[in-house]
Amino acid sequence: MSETAPFPAAFARRLPKAELHVHLEGSVGPATLLALAEKHGVVPPAYDEAGIVDWLRTDSFPGFLERYFFICRLLRDPDDFRRVAYDYLASAHDQGAVHVEFHVSSSYHIVEQVADWASILSGIVAGCDEAENALGVSSLLIPDLSPHLGAEAAHRALDSVLTNIDNRTVAIGMGGPADTWRIDDYGPCYDRARASGLRAVSHAGEHGPAWEVRHAIEVFGAERIQHGIGAMQDPEVVKMLVDEGIACDVCPGSNVALGAVSSMAEHPLAAMLDAGITVTLGSDDPPLMATNLLAEYEHAWNLASLDEDGLRQLAHNSLVESFAPVELVEAWLSDD
Ligand SMILES: [Zn+2]
Repeated sequence: MSETAPFPAAFARRLPKAELHVHLEGSVGPATLLALAEKHGVVPPAYDEAGIVDWLRTDSFPGFLERYFFICRLLRDPDDFRRVAYDYLASAHDQGAVHVEFHVSSSYHIVEQVADWASILSGIVAGCDEAENALGVSSLLIPDLSPHLGAEAAHRALDSVLTNIDNRTVAIGMGGPADTWRIDDYGPCYDRARASGLRAVSHAGEHGPAWEVRHAIEVFGAERIQHGIGAMQDPEVVKMLVDEGIACDVCPGSNVALGAVSSMAEHPLAAMLDAGITVTLGSDDPPLMATNLLAEYEHAWNLASLDEDGLRQLAHNSLVESFAPVELVEAWLSDD
């Protein structure tokens, strides 16, 4: 298959697939952003959808964080969270997703906004239930801790997460720059989560180097890595991912949008696949990255000169690597 073969969009859409790397707060689209701003009396960054689309796009990590946290601050009551969860699940369902694992910035809401996690969770779960009943799309939640607040704050956020574990909360994650990982010890956060029955994932090796991926595996016990592209700088870390069967939930559109790679042509996705790393595709924060899940499959198609079997394998990986119950995974696999 040549690199210029047209992307088989209808085929890719039909593939049963899971999305394991998307942030609930980063999934909010322009129409919902405007509606939430009006509801809460907040001056929006622009007054029509086209203006919001322009505002959402940024090529810097600080610019991204500014927009991301603006959106976070618009999510105030349980119905806001219900709405954005349902909206995104409907969008993912339209793209052929049968299962979504939402990262939720729990430490931002709990520690920085001093919001009630039980109340937030009730809203998200209501949106997930609504989407499951109406569309048949499955979903689970991964509360993320942010290392910029320090380990003590991460433990406080975790207190709320662990006292409110429900049947949708499946894992904890770590999101944000790794600057403090070697100063503060977040390993005990993961130990506490594991003792409460939660699984473990972590962002690592997005803008940062391979040691972050090693640290996430060795110290946090991460079972999946979000991004992980930095692992390619160290063959030993690549080998660790391959030997331990740890998947990377990769988001090429996001990596280009935020400058983790200098251009799409520089993205290491093909090298990751060639090295034997299990890759799943995610959209990260789709409106902020001008992407969606199917666009990520198209990026992979072009980057790795895939054929239809290659697309099928990526969709298959996403189902197998998900934290969904095994009977659901087997049912989806029988359809792929
Ligand atoms: Zn992410």
